[in-house]
This record gives sequence, C-alpha cells and structure tokens, in this order.
Amino acid sequence: MIKHARPPVQQVREPENWKPESWQRREALQQARYPDEAQLESAVRQLAESPPLVTSWEILSLREQIAEAQVGKRFMLQGGDCAENFNECTSPLITNRLKVLLQMSLVLVHGLQMPVLRVGRFAGQYAKPRSSDTETRDGVTLPSYRGDIVNAIDFTPEARVPNPARLIQAHASSAMTMNFVRALVDGGFADLHHPEYWNLSWVEHSPLAEEFQKIADNIGHSLRFLETLTGTDAGSLRRVDFFTSHEALHLHYEQALTRQVPRQWGWFNLSTHFPWIGMRTAAPDGAHVEFFRGIRNPIGIKVGPGMTADWVAQLLDTLNPEREPGRIVLIHRMGESRIEECLPPLIQAVEDQGSPVLWICDPMHGNTESTESGIKTRRFRRIMREMDLAFDIHRAAGSRLGGAHLELTGEDVTECTGGARDLSEADLNRAYKSTVDPRLNYEQSLELAMLIVQKYGQ
Ligand code: PEP
Ligand code: MN
Repeated sequence: MIKHARPPVQQVREPENWKPESWQRREALQQARYPDEAQLESAVRQLAESPPLVTSWEILSLREQIAEAQVGKRFMLQGGDCAENFNECTSPLITNRLKVLLQMSLVLVHGLQMPVLRVGRFAGQYAKPRSSDTETRDGVTLPSYRGDIVNAIDFTPEARVPNPARLIQAHASSAMTMNFVRALVDGGFADLHHPEYWNLSWVEHSPLAEEFQKIADNIGHSLRFLETLTGTDAGSLRRVDFFTSHEALHLHYEQALTRQVPRQWGWFNLSTHFPWIGMRTAAPDGAHVEFFRGIRNPIGIKVGPGMTADWVAQLLDTLNPEREPGRIVLIHRMGESRIEECLPPLIQAVEDQGSPVLWICDPMHGNTESTESGIKTRRFRRIMREMDLAFDIHRAAGSRLGGAHLELTGEDVTECTGGARDLSEADLNRAYKSTVDPRLNYEQSLELAMLIVQKYGQ
C-alpha cells in the first residue's frame, strides 16, 4: 500500500460518455432512501472535498499485481469482515484481523512458493446489500439495516432512518483504519523476520498454531541463511504490500471519492484500491456497472449461480472492452452444491471471449444457511469442499484458480460450525458477534490456508 514503484502508465482509450455521476441515469438497486435530499447533497459535497483514501499509483500497482496473478505468478488472498462497524474501528480488532491475514499469507507464500497478493476487506466495507428492504419483528416492520454507512443496526425507527452524516463517518473510520494499517505495515509489524508479532494472545495450544510456528521458524531460518550467504539484510522483507477493498455499493459515496489526478488520464475511485460489484447489483444495464465502467481501478465481480454465460460475456465487454490485463477479477460464489454445475459454462464463456481475468473463489456466500433456531451460519466442511472443487474444476477446464475471497476475523468467534475444534450448533451461542454474515475464526482461517497449499501443490 505504500512506497510502490510507480508502474508504467498504460495508455488506453477513455470510456465514452462517462462521468462519475452517469450512473444516476440508470436504475440503482440496493440504495438507501434518504428522507432529506438536501442533507444528502451536502454530505456528498463535503465528501467530494475530503482527502482520498488511496492513491492512483497504488491502484496501478495493484493492477500490475493482479495481471501477474492472472498468469499464475501470484496468489490473491482477499479477506476480512462481512461488514465493518463504526464501533469496531479499534486497535485490537484491526490488529488481530491483520495478524490472521498475515499468518495465512505466510502459510501460502511458504507452501505455494509464490508471492501472495494481500487484499483486506476493510477500511470501507460499510455498505451491505439486503435481500429485503424491510425487516419485521413481532409484527413491527422497519427499514432493513444497510450497513453503518446508511443506518444503525438497532431495531428502532430512529436507528433505521438513513442518515447522510454516516457517509462522513464512514470516510473518517475508513481513514483511521487505513492510517493504522499503513503505520503497522510500514513500522515493521509485517516484518517476516518477526512473525511472532502476529500471534494472537487468546490462541492457546492450538495444533494449528504449532504448525504455523514451524512454518514461521522455517522461513526465519531461510531468511537468516540468505542474509548470511549474501552478506546483506533482506530489507525488503521488513514490510509487505497490503491493499484494501470493499463492495462499492453506495454509489453517492463512491462517486464523491472518484477523482482525476495529475499526470494520469481518466478517473480513479480513490475510496479503495479494489472495489467489487456485488451479486445483487451486477445487472449489465444497471447503475453499478455503469459506475464501474469508467473507473481505472481493478474491479471484482461476484459471480453467483444465477449468472449466465451471456451475462458474464456482456459484463466483460462493458467493463473491459480493451481486454486489459489486471483489470478484472471474477469472484465465484456458487455454493458447494452448485459449483460443479454452474462454474464450467462460465469458464468456457470467458475462454471463448478471450478476456484476461483472475478467477478467485469465495466459498462463503453460497454456503450460508440457518439453523433450526434461526442462526445464520456456514459449515466449515462445505466451505472447504467448495474451495477444493474450485481448484479441480478450473484444472479440468484448463483454467486456473488464482485466489480466495473470505469472510474472517482475528477474534475468537463461533459463527461457522466445524473446523479443527469441530464447533457444533450449540457452540454458536458462545461467541457469535457478526451483525451480518458468519465469519471464519482464526483456526478455521489457518486451516483453510493449509488446505489451499495442499491442493495447489498437487
Ligand atoms: C458479501 O461479499 O458480503 C456479499 C454480500 O456477497 P455477494 O454479493 O456475493 O452475495
Ligand atoms: Mn457477507
């Protein structure tokens, strides 16, 4: 995220008839209805004057790294909360999330013997798509919670009214998170010589923690060996690159942070390095696709079981007409029971079109279910199996799975069942903290990283 060499500028055509506000001519799904338009406009004006959260050269550097992943030279690890909350913008939560991602990436670097592209689902993951506009409890119906950028989770009429002041708070909380992550990463926290910094205090005697320790020791020995051999200090390993991502759902917010920058052509969405289009807002003629068409960031597209080959082809035509490498990441999230049926035709469609994409698997969102008592959960076994199948399906199709997109946390939560400690449905009551989707905990995350290594090495 910092101190990237500036990559060469690729000169490609600017998209036609596009402005950051062009999306307003199209149907925008999943948007909040603000009671006071003037207040919304004023918040958007204030945001448009606010400093951006990332820079254009970081974005271009990420594009280069995605282009490398597209040709099999990197593996992408994207992970973090389903939704961030303003009251969780705290030092321990941010640090723990970073620790898990760093530990997982170390397992991947070691096992895959290739660089890992690290992307956090954080510093802006505040807007949530919902399956219904309203929520009813005990006969009372209120607007749905749409993420902290829009309204509050409490089930009261006041809390659920969309409030434009939250747009400003979302920007501020994203900036604080970003600032802290940048400082940690730059200040030596991500130093490969000291993976012991990444231990989570609450993890005791976990077999996976032990296994991780072995990998970390192994890397430590290799580093010292290299340094002795060359008589130099592997200085560049004292820090790693970290990029940010979120679902660019709230189009007024994204528009306000979309800017032109000196010495670059076109527009950059400077709210994040890597915005993605959610499954519910990927209509080719919809407002979200129109917004994404004009920004130069790399783009993620969630691909669910309902997506057809034609639909994917249209999205690629609209969003990457010049077939630029490093531009598109397709994040499939089919569910373990649908992936074998739904993924192959899409791989074929992309192949036929000849568009460069990076395929990554989100094994979380197609595997959400409710327990009998109504708790939203995911079975670890299904998550693992979808990941496993994804590798095999790509391999059989002559394609390649180049990354994973995960919902995880560094906290000791019990939200997904199964895993090393074989969490049961009864355990879900112990530490279920997510306000939206269930996340992998530390052990489940590491276990998944280890599975990826096993699969990839085959
Ligand atoms: C998400 O990533 O939190 C999400 C809502 O995903 P999807 O659009 O794939 O359902
Ligand atoms: Mn989610």
